[in-house]
Amino acid sequence: MKTTRNTTSKSVILDLITQSEVALSHAEIQILTNGICDRVTIYRVLERLVNEDLIHKAVNLDGTIKYASCSHSSEHHSHNHVHFCCEKCKSVTCLDNVEPIFTLPKNYKVKEVNFTLTGLCPNCI
Ligand SMILES: [Zn+2]
Ligand SMILES: [Zn+2]
Repeated sequence: MKTTRNTTSKSVILDLITQSEVALSHAEIQILTNGICDRVTIYRVLERLVNEDLIHKAVNLDGTIKYASCSHSSEHHSHNHVHFCCEKCKSVTCLDNVEPIFTLPKNYKVKEVNFTLTGLCPNCI
C-alpha cells in the first residue's frame, strides 16, 4: 500500500467504519472524527476506500448513503449480501451471511446486487 498525506484520516475513517456495527453516513463519520477531517477529506477518503474495495455503500430509507466495511473472508469476496434498513432508527446493517437468492431470465448478467430489507432492527423491536 502506498503512503499518502491522507493516510491518517484514511485509517481513522476505516477504523470507525470497521468497528461500527451499523453502516455510517458521511455526516455520522464527520461527527465521529471530532473535526479531525473536513467534509472534502472525508468524501475523498470514502471514495478511495470504496475504490480499493475496503468498504461498500448501502442506502438507507431516506436515500442517505451509508458506508460499511467489507468482510474479506475469502480472496474473492462478494458484495452479494442483504442490507437491513430499520424504519425506526434508520440504521443500516450488513447481513453478511444472508445472500439473496433469485433466478434471472436468460441473457441477463448481474454485475451488482443491491438487496435491501426494511423493518425493525433488534434495538427497535
Ligand atoms: Zn432500529
Ligand atoms: Zn453491506
